[in-house]
Amino acid sequence: MIAAFFYTLPCPIHSRFLRMGGKPRPSNPKLLCRVPHVPRTWGRGIASICFLFISAVTALPAQPGPLNAQKIADGVWFLPGDAAKGYCNNIVIEMRDYLIVVDANYPGRARELVAEIHQLSPKPVRFVFDTHAHRDHAYGNSVWTDAGATTFAYQGVADEMDRYEPRRWRSTAAERDDVRSLNLADAPRPQLLFRQSPFILKDATREVRFYFLGWAHTRGDGFVWLPNERILSTGDAAVNGPRNKLWDANIENWPRVLARALAFQPLHVLPGHGDAGGPEILLGQQTFLQDLFATVKTQVEAGKTLAQIVPILPERDRNWIPKDLSTDVAITYAEITQHQPAGALPHGWK
Ligand SMILES: [Zn+2]
Repeated sequence: MIAAFFYTLPCPIHSRFLRMGGKPRPSNPKLLCRVPHVPRTWGRGIASICFLFISAVTALPAQPGPLNAQKIADGVWFLPGDAAKGYCNNIVIEMRDYLIVVDANYPGRARELVAEIHQLSPKPVRFVFDTHAHRDHAYGNSVWTDAGATTFAYQGVADEMDRYEPRRWRSTAAERDDVRSLNLADAPRPQLLFRQSPFILKDATREVRFYFLGWAHTRGDGFVWLPNERILSTGDAAVNGPRNKLWDANIENWPRVLARALAFQPLHVLPGHGDAGGPEILLGQQTFLQDLFATVKTQVEAGKTLAQIVPILPERDRNWIPKDLSTDVAITYAEITQHQPAGALPHGWK
């Protein structure tokens, strides 16, 4: 019944998006082969190298990377993203007749998954859920819709995109080939949105619940909860390691959101970045944010300026503390001193 609700929704975003569709920009083989002053004896070897290189480039969409799938339960896989390429993690959930993919990822990773996901199951990907609006989770949307899937999200994801796009899309397209290759002027929005949490997809084999639990990492953080398997997918509301960005966050509220997630009592926690694990990921992310907020607040109340603040974090936060904590401190300082969530304050894309 709920799936039927999906199909009856009007979709002006999708129609607009379809009009914006484009083809990948072709590579220029001449540029790849332009090698000045080559000795004759090298010519054949370099020609071969160029041929191989051109073959590799032209074949790029058909050359998938490894899935590296980890089976979490029957029909549920965790697919770690390549951090060097900026990819987030993905989760694949098998239903009776179709697959759900959690997060669209960047277009490069989306193409890999579209090509290789049959290794996990021959069923089609019907739904792709954007956990939030950030580029490494949602910019692959059009790759999935071109492959026949429907993208969806909590309403807050589209609101975040309307707030920050197309500025972020344009700056990312300037630095990433996979985004630029889509030839789009704006970030493709999730096609379908839900406003009431939880939204539930259910069939004879499985129930999957999609929750919004409050403003944490962004104003649209979606959690995916499998109640029978006790598996929780968190997007970037919880990451395993020093990988989080606080620019769009509500730092003071974030630990409360994680407390709601902990109340599910998950056995498995699948974060947006970093290794899969258990509830210790939620607890660690929560404690780090609480400790960060507390140390900055204490020093603000003692009259210190931003430059004078020396964050003192306990050893238990080690896994979540980045090498350079100054950005996190500055964002937290802004939230405390301006009495508004950091994400509500004017800020650029970082
Ligand atoms: Zn994020």
